Amino acid sequence: MLALITILNRCHRFPGFVYQQARFSSDQKSIEIAVRPRRGSKAVCSHCHEPGPGYDKLPERRFEFIPFWGFLVFLLYSMRRVECRRCQTVVVEEVPWGDGKRTLTRAYMLFLAGWARRLSWKETAEAFRTSWEKVFDAVEHVVTYGLEHRVLGQIDAIGVDEIQYAKGHKYLTLVYQIDLGVTRLLWIGRERTIESFQGFFKVIGDEIASKIVFVCSDMWEPYLKVIREKCSEVLHILDRFHIVAKMNKALDDVRAGESRRMLREGYMPVLKKSRWLLLKREENLKTVRAYLLKEAFQQLWDYNAPYWAGEFLDEWCRQVMRSRIEPMKKIARSLRDHRELILNYFRAQKLLSSGVVEGLNNKAKVTMRKAYGFRTFRTLELALYHSLGKLPEPESTHEFF
Ligand SMILES: [Zn+2]
Repeated sequence: MLALITILNRCHRFPGFVYQQARFSSDQKSIEIAVRPRRGSKAVCSHCHEPGPGYDKLPERRFEFIPFWGFLVFLLYSMRRVECRRCQTVVVEEVPWGDGKRTLTRAYMLFLAGWARRLSWKETAEAFRTSWEKVFDAVEHVVTYGLEHRVLGQIDAIGVDEIQYAKGHKYLTLVYQIDLGVTRLLWIGRERTIESFQGFFKVIGDEIASKIVFVCSDMWEPYLKVIREKCSEVLHILDRFHIVAKMNKALDDVRAGESRRMLREGYMPVLKKSRWLLLKREENLKTVRAYLLKEAFQQLWDYNAPYWAGEFLDEWCRQVMRSRIEPMKKIARSLRDHRELILNYFRAQKLLSSGVVEGLNNKAKVTMRKAYGFRTFRTLELALYHSLGKLPEPESTHEFF
């Protein structure tokens, strides 16, 4: 067991502390390594981070370290209490391998969090014979550090989007940075209200907000309102992806309406299962026409000049308004209302493809699936920052892989 201490001294060494001895636990399943303060070294106050005179010792604590050859590994240490002059009170010391009350060592948390980015949290827990809660703890530790230490810098472009995370209209608002060189998740808010989106601007501050040049979002009114307020100079672009999604939704509504009508009139409900089967049937003219209108709309994205894109958009809306297909007319009205914001997409020379936001959002959905276990806001928040935030990681004495 001497070898283990030699290895620890090589990769996980802290000046004020000494590894004393390593032994197997009574059930032979784990290795326990006693740690003690180096003679003459002072304990450090966990409030003010200054060394101070010792007061007493607390009962031994177990800090879980990275498992080794199928054995769980624990560092055993009795925390000292410091009589801190600066804080005028008795405070527990801080130890360089731990983080407050967390039971895992920093090294192990960094290690687990790294795996929790590749595997689901559940799989990570199983692979390392630990619990889902400890994986949560590890990710929380790493993300908290990352958010405290990240540099926002200048942000040119942001994309705002929402994701439904639970039944019953439970939404998250996600804000991404979508600069040409940097794409990352900047912020997550509960709900998709004006208040929640304002929270983002509180976090980044007026200085950074005032320099944002482009914003991509969908037609969700609370987002539009906050953007009008906070970024008056910005070129606001309605997201292409969202317009297409709305169009698909309208087509579904038309189809659903048709199939209800047919059921009433005694046709078999073939359409419920198959999306396109119904196009073959003459009686579904409305669906066919809605489909053709939707397809025709795609041409819009081929335009380069805002002027011609605008002409096309107006003509398309005129056709739709004559069509008597209510869900499509609703879209046309909405597109007319947001005409200028849509044309901004062409004014920005299509530089900011909404594909970036769409891609990030798809990644976010995959991440949400992987973090499942408990679908709480906190879990999702941590998982999303962890995988999409490009956050800086705590420094380590050694790269454990
Ligand atoms: Zn202190």
